[in-house]
Amino acid sequence: MSWDQRQRAMLAEMGYRLPAASAVAAEVVEAEPEPIVVAAPPPVIVRVAAPSAPSSFANLDMPALREAVSSCRACGLCEQRRNAVFGNGALQQAQWLVVADPPDEGDDASGEALGGDAGRLLDRMLSAAGQRRTGDEATAFVTPIVKCRPPRGRAPQPAELDACEAVLARQAELLRPRVVLAMGLQAARRLTGLTEPLGKLRGRVHRWRDLPVIVTYHPAYLLRSPADKAGAWDDLCLALRTVND
Ligand code: SF4
Repeated sequence: MSWDQRQRAMLAEMGYRLPAASAVAAEVVEAEPEPIVVAAPPPVIVRVAAPSAPSSFANLDMPALREAVSSCRACGLCEQRRNAVFGNGALQQAQWLVVADPPDEGDDASGEALGGDAGRLLDRMLSAAGQRRTGDEATAFVTPIVKCRPPRGRAPQPAELDACEAVLARQAELLRPRVVLAMGLQAARRLTGLTEPLGKLRGRVHRWRDLPVIVTYHPAYLLRSPADKAGAWDDLCLALRTVND
């Protein structure tokens, strides 16, 4: 399959159809994509130093960490949560660590990260990039930037982000991902340490705790703005190039 056909197929996997004038029949790909060989990724942007993981999480294995998060009271977000959202996906090493914006109401009710239509779109996006977060062969782990839903969906405050970064840092230590995908503005700003609009954070390789970070749109946003799925695919390609570099 040529690159052009391949790109069309991947976009079809994500539910995006190219304009009719230039489109050819897009084939839905179910097999893992072939390695993409392209030019070196853009220059790396280094994030400001992150706070160290507190000792309360630092030595826990994954089951113990999940248990600790379920009853965590390290910040005020514990007060109104129904369920902490630890995340799901690869049980041991993950190739991709997907860090999304804070849990929405559905996630808070279920305790699962990114369910519903947004979760289904995320799974198609991961599949298009040869990744999956379910099953024994899972290669990706999906988790929110803070594990407890802020009241009324407000943005998490710096102290809350600081407290919960300790959990994320331990997840990253245990999963040892090759790339981090920051989905949504709040996740992107936290992991890059920058306050620019999301559009300006895309297209670059940032760094968080020695891991490359690629910024992209949140799947819930893409459901409202499907024209941006093409841009999201560009971001996934940058993540693939970064891993293969
Ligand atoms: S948001 Fe994170 S740090 Fe705060 S209570 Fe929940 S799990 Fe603990």
